[in-house]
Amino acid sequence: MPDGFFTLCYFIGLVAEGLIRLPYARMYRETKVNYDLLTMLEKFLLFIAFLGMFFIPILYALTTLLDFANYTLPLWVGWAGVALMAATVWLFWRSHADLGRNWSPTLQIMEGHTLVSHGVYKYMRHPMYGSMWLLGIAQIMLLQNWIGGPSNLIGFLPMYILRVPREERMMLDRFGEEYKNYMEKTGRIIPKL
Ligand code: SAH
Repeated sequence: MPDGFFTLCYFIGLVAEGLIRLPYARMYRETKVNYDLLTMLEKFLLFIAFLGMFFIPILYALTTLLDFANYTLPLWVGWAGVALMAATVWLFWRSHADLGRNWSPTLQIMEGHTLVSHGVYKYMRHPMYGSMWLLGIAQIMLLQNWIGGPSNLIGFLPMYILRVPREERMMLDRFGEEYKNYMEKTGRIIPKL
């Protein structure tokens, strides 16, 4: 039971995140983009992240291809993974709710873009990316396989490393002093209280 159950919990978490994103994706399509930093590199990084988050977990769950790399963790670790997944979904939801119309899938400044510094953004600048790190850790606990477990952490790492400095530079260009002050008061993904 536990193995299949924990795998199911991973996918329930992913579906919940997909549903949370839906209305923001719709709003995004209806809003004009004022500034766009989308490059081929970014598209490639998004693709790698997609492989780690969806494609490899689906291979693990629906085929026997990765079975040779299975491992078994104590039951309590699986349950801790379920709790972490719930926290992840919460943070993913809160960051969408706080970011509102300013959300975009790639590095963009939207029409009427405002600097959000309330809610979870009061403590950290990248709660959504933080929630993705948490998802990666939860995945290791839920998908007990040396490939299917860490695939998201590995797939997200290059995107995080290359995107965050560019995103912060873009925000500094757009919001100047206001973003600089905001940076001093917040952590990147570790909350500054
Ligand atoms: N990095 C943030 C947001 C991810 S969505 C997080 O992890 O929570 C990416 C878009 O959000 C970027 O294109 C940028 O335009 C926008 N953004 C990032 N931080 C923001 C902020 N504090 N206020 C408003 N928009 C922000």
